[in-house]
Amino acid sequence: LVHAVNVTKSFHHNEVLKGIDLDVDRGQVVCLLGPSGSGKTTFLRCINQLETIDGGRIWVDGRLMGYDDRDGRLYRLKNKQIAAQRREIGMVFQRFNLFPHMTAIENVMEAPVQVKGEGKKESRVRAQALLDRVGLGDRCTAYPAQLSGGQQQRVAIARALAMQPKLMLFDEPTSALDPELVGEVLAVIRELADEGMTMIVVTHEMSFARDVADTVVFMDAGVVVEAGRPREVLGNPQHQRTKTFLTRLH
Ligand code: ATP
Repeated sequence: LVHAVNVTKSFHHNEVLKGIDLDVDRGQVVCLLGPSGSGKTTFLRCINQLETIDGGRIWVDGRLMGYDDRDGRLYRLKNKQIAAQRREIGMVFQRFNLFPHMTAIENVMEAPVQVKGEGKKESRVRAQALLDRVGLGDRCTAYPAQLSGGQQQRVAIARALAMQPKLMLFDEPTSALDPELVGEVLAVIRELADEGMTMIVVTHEMSFARDVADTVVFMDAGVVVEAGRPREVLGNPQHQRTKTFLTRLH
């Protein structure tokens, strides 16, 4: 579903991605690990075109992201077309970016109604079902400030799902949470994985990566150092940089 080839990205003179390759099959869960500053967030943002890439190509579901490939040349897509591509990808950030002046259910309904032009009635029914699914069916009318961080993050997941994405990107979805709230959010993500959602998850939660990931990718300084089954990469890392990173986490 995701096919990224030799993706490069610099900010000024800082080359943050130095040729990233990644393949994610439909229904697969990839966990992206690596030290702070290794480029994980930037790579996720490149996938859904929140950043433009300097080189390489990214396809999602067979579609080249951000460009039209005609006669061997790349043409940048119009903003509207990029927005359409982006709508097929759900993203959940470290910090819950909910609209503070809207209730949980209004947050979930917002994009389907505003962007897709879905009817309010229909959208409300779907939003209710999504909030049920993340265990918040009884908190529909709560405002974000009345919810715990874990609950807000679950609303954020429901909101992303409301657009029926083909792919979900999670950028350290639990790192801003109090430790006792991490489990409930990971449980929701795990359930999504079990239901067959394709996802890329940047995380420092090793037990989650070990249990849920099909593939673990370890990045450092803008390159993929190693990738493979969790058992291999986490249990028997081949590269010194991976070993050092994993030792530091314990
Ligand atoms: P973390 O775990 O801390 O989020 P990361 O692996 O996700 O780290 P990135 O956030 O992708 O790393 O950052 C990689 C590098 O790119 C860092 O050196 C960062 O300062 C730089 N960077 C990221 N975004 C920008 C930006 N918009 N402008 C300039 N530099 C940026």
